[in-house]
Amino acid sequence: MNVLILGSGGREHAFAWKISQSPLLSNLFIAPGNPGTAEIGTNLPIQVTDFEAIKEAIKTHQIELLIVGPEEPLVKGVRDYLEADESLKNLGIVGPGKLGAQLEGSKDFSKNFMNKYQVPTAKSKTFVKDTIEEGLAYLAEQSFPIVLKADGLAAGKGVIIAQNLTEAQETLKEMLIDAKFGDASAKVVIEEFLQGIELSVFVLSDGDNYVLLPEAKDYKRIRENDEGLNTGGMGAVSPVSFANERFMEKVKQKVIEPTIKGLKAEGIPYQGFIFIGLMNHEGEPYVIEYNARMGDPETEVVLPRIESDFLSLLFASSKGKLNAQKIVLSEQYAVTTVVVAGGYPESYRKGDVISGFDKVQDAVLFHAGTKKEGDAIVTSGGRVMALTGISNTLEKAIQKSQKAANAIQYEGKHFRKDIGLDVLRYEKP
Ligand code: AMP
Repeated sequence: MNVLILGSGGREHAFAWKISQSPLLSNLFIAPGNPGTAEIGTNLPIQVTDFEAIKEAIKTHQIELLIVGPEEPLVKGVRDYLEADESLKNLGIVGPGKLGAQLEGSKDFSKNFMNKYQVPTAKSKTFVKDTIEEGLAYLAEQSFPIVLKADGLAAGKGVIIAQNLTEAQETLKEMLIDAKFGDASAKVVIEEFLQGIELSVFVLSDGDNYVLLPEAKDYKRIRENDEGLNTGGMGAVSPVSFANERFMEKVKQKVIEPTIKGLKAEGIPYQGFIFIGLMNHEGEPYVIEYNARMGDPETEVVLPRIESDFLSLLFASSKGKLNAQKIVLSEQYAVTTVVVAGGYPESYRKGDVISGFDKVQDAVLFHAGTKKEGDAIVTSGGRVMALTGISNTLEKAIQKSQKAANAIQYEGKHFRKDIGLDVLRYEKP
């Protein structure tokens, strides 16, 4: 099978790494890819939203399966665009069309969907510029903290947790009137704040059936103990001990099954990943958000724990044949630590030469924000690499990941030293 992966981060390197282990694979292409994916497949210099060039590449390289990594091409309709071409009718695509991607592309859509299909979620109300006065009055009746969410894609920055009424009202005005997040905040969802422990659950759906992938916990803040600014993700762990059988059964019955049925009832064919951000609030799962793709860096701990042929699962998802598949998971622990550029997540250093690759021995190294310059690999993005340690114990997986993060060298390197430690404490109270 010839496969094309869209994207260029750690997630896409992890996809390429996993798929390259499959006996079903003939040729692997990644657009645009990174220096890590170039070692396992062929990088194509095509941007993820250049649909015309993507279509050409699919024809030229006789691609049979397209895997869409990031959300932007999904929300912009890459599937719809390709499906409109009759000559590509046999192409399998992992990733929903424009409608299904609204689960991620519009918080208002996803809240309405959850309410309609009784998926547990925080109580909320949506406001626009014309109803701002009602929004301000609504806020005055709420308790705090409260959550304000820009409706559209805002590069992970569109969620603000306001601690008091003044902050909440100011934020609402900034979002609706000053267009703080551009068009993305033309609508704002105001949502009740839920206390609890967060967990990410990943589902691969074929529209009718689904398989549950390993769950993960991610670490969003730049510094230890979840302090400092929000980032794209500083690390992740899988499995997560508090996602025990009882809790996961509730997740299946109350969240996943109504979601799959709801999509079907809405006439939304959904072949691809559903990433469900959950809050474990007093032992009950509540959906914080849906994403229409895998998470990054969660993918870097989820995929190492899948023992079944991942390419076979992906192809079955794209063809509506997941019922014939079984997913086998490894009992091992996976921990990934992300090394980031100096200054990140604010303006950060670029072009620093990276060394120490040969010293990463007992971990899997995924490139994220790197590029090749002559013979050197240099930093080119905020999140530079993800280093995944795999072991029979969480403690050892953490050590392997940290050791690898220490071994990689470049000017300004930063990484969190506490990835997984909270889960370890939870295991051994
Ligand atoms: P989102 O972009 O929807 O994932 O939100 C970003 C982060 O904000 C989440 O990972 C949570 O930590 C937090 N968050 C979002 N919604 C809520 C909520 N209703 N209650 C508490 N925290 C929330």
